[in-house]
Amino acid sequence: MTDPLAGASGVPLWLDDVTRPAPRPGLDGDLTVDLAIVGGGFTGLWTAILAAEADPGRSIALLEAGTLGWAASGRNGGFCSASLTHGLMNGLERWPEEMPTLLRLGEQTLDDIEAAITRYGIDCDFRREGDLAVAVAPWQLEGLQEVHEAALRLGEKSELLDAGEAQALAGSSSYLGGLRDRRGTAVLNPARLVWGLAAAAERLGVTLYEGTKVLRVRDDGDRVRLDTRVDAGPDSASGPDSGSAAGRARGASFTVRASRVVLGTNVFPSPLRRLRPFTVPVWDHVLATEPLTDRQWDDLGWAGGYGISDAGNQFHYYRTTSDRRIVWGGYDALYYYGSDLSPRRARREQTERVLAEHFFATFPQLAGPGGVRFSHAWAGAIDTSTRFTAFWSQAMRGKLAAVQGYTGLGVGASRFGAQVALDLVDGRETERTALMMVRRPPVPFPPEPFRWAGITLTRRSLARADAADGRRDLWLRTLDRLGLGFDS
Ligand SMILES: Cc1cc2nc3c(=O)[nH]c(=O)nc-3n(C[C@H](O)[C@H](O)[C@H](O)COP(=O)(O)OP(=O)(O)OC[C@H]3O[C@@H](n4cnc5c(N)ncnc54)[C@H](O)[C@@H]3O)c2cc1C
Repeated sequence: MTDPLAGASGVPLWLDDVTRPAPRPGLDGDLTVDLAIVGGGFTGLWTAILAAEADPGRSIALLEAGTLGWAASGRNGGFCSASLTHGLMNGLERWPEEMPTLLRLGEQTLDDIEAAITRYGIDCDFRREGDLAVAVAPWQLEGLQEVHEAALRLGEKSELLDAGEAQALAGSSSYLGGLRDRRGTAVLNPARLVWGLAAAAERLGVTLYEGTKVLRVRDDGDRVRLDTRVDAGPDSASGPDSGSAAGRARGASFTVRASRVVLGTNVFPSPLRRLRPFTVPVWDHVLATEPLTDRQWDDLGWAGGYGISDAGNQFHYYRTTSDRRIVWGGYDALYYYGSDLSPRRARREQTERVLAEHFFATFPQLAGPGGVRFSHAWAGAIDTSTRFTAFWSQAMRGKLAAVQGYTGLGVGASRFGAQVALDLVDGRETERTALMMVRRPPVPFPPEPFRWAGITLTRRSLARADAADGRRDLWLRTLDRLGLGFDS
C-alpha cells in the first residue's frame, strides 16, 4: 500500500483556501481608542463585534501579532459546542449548583453564534446536527451511561445507543455503543468563520491591525498604554511567538492608549505576566483526508453532519466536511519542556502515523489499494488550564480584562468568554459575572521542571488507564480529588 501520508501539506486544511483574505496592514502610528483588543482569534473578534453592536459610537482597534485566525481559531477541529465547561461531567464536578445556568447560557451562546452567522451572511459550512460520543472499549460504556443519566437529570436531551445503532450512524464496526446529542454541537469551517467575523467587525467600524504585536501593557492614569511592534509585516503567515517573527528587527514601535483593554491572547505568553502560569500549551495533531470518491463515501456510511468523538482518556475527534473529507484529530496531547511553542512542533511524524493507523482501524473500508489518502497534517497549541475551562482576570483597576484557558473546547465558548470580558471592563454586573466559574481563578501550573514532570506523569497514567479498562492509578486519583488535571 502506498503511504497515505505521503505529500500531506502542513498547512491546516482550513487555512489552505483560495478565499483567504489578504492580510490587513499593521499599525502605522500612535493611536488613542475607547477599546483595544489584543488577539485576532475568536475571542478577540467576538469581543470586537459584541462591543461594536452594543455601542456603535465606540472607537475599537484590534491588534493581532500574526494574521487573523492563524493560531488555534484557524486550525481546530471545527466542533462548535454549547458546552462552556469542557463537557458536562467536568462542569458538574466543579460547579454543580451552577450547572443548570451554565447549560442554559451555553445553549444561548450556540444559538447566538448561529444567529450571527446568518445575520452577517458568513459562509462557514455551519451544520448543527449535534454530536455522537462512542465507546470503543467495554469500560467506556459505563462512562457514557453516567453522562446520559446526568444529562437527563438536568433536563437535557440525550440518547443512549447500542452498538448497532451507533455503528449505523457512521459505519464503524469498532463502536460498542454511543451517546447522541442532536442540538448541542455544530460543525463548521473555523477559518471561514474567523474571516467572516473579521469582515463583519469592519462593517461595524472596528479597525483590525495584523502583524502588530503588543509587547507590554501598563496602567496610564485613565487609560492603559500598550506598546506595540509591527514585526514581520502584514504578509507574515507565521505566528508571533514562533521565533521567526520575533527574529526580524525591522519593525516600527507605536503606542496605543485605550480606555479599556481586552486580552484574547490564548496560549501565547500573556502581555500581563502574572497570567502566564495559568495555562500550558498542549500540542494537538489533526489529519484531513482528500475528498472521498462517491464509492468511498457510500462505503463509509456516515451521512450526517454530526461530529464524533470516542470516550477514552486519549480520545479522537472527527467530522466530515462539505466537500466530503474526514478531519481526524486528537489522541496524542503533547507537552514540551519549557512550554515550547515553536512552529517545528506543528509536524510530528510519529503522531501522524499513529493517527493514520487509528483512522484505518476505525474505517478499514477506506484502507487498501486505492484507499483514502491524507492531504493535510497539522497541529496547534491548545491553552490548557488545570480546570479545562476559560477563566477571566482583571487588572489596572478594572480597565483591562483577559480571558483564556478554554482548553480544547473554545470555538463556541469563546463568544461567551468575550461577552464576560466586556461585562468586566465595562463594569457591568450580570448573571454571567456572578458565576463562580467567572469569579474564581484556576490553580496555576507549577514552574519547570515540576511542570514537565507532573504533566509527563499524568500523560503516562492516562495512557495506562486507557489500556487497563479505565482504572485510574493513585496519581490520577489524587489529582481527581484535588480537582486538577491535564486534558486537551
Ligand atoms: C488542533 C486544535 C484543535 C482544536 N479543536 C477544537 C474543536 O474542535 N472545538 C473547539 O471548541 N475547540 C477546539 N480547539 C480550541 C479552540 O480552537 C480555541 O479554544 C479557540 O480557537 C481560542 O480562540 P482564541 O481567540 O482565544 O485564541 P487564538 O485563536 O489562539 O487567538 C489568539 C491570537 O492572539 C494573538 N496574540 C497572542 N499574543 C499576542 C500579542 N502579544 N499581541 C498581539 N496578538 C497576540 C495570536 O497571534 C493569536 O492569533 C482546538 C485547538 C487546537 C489547537
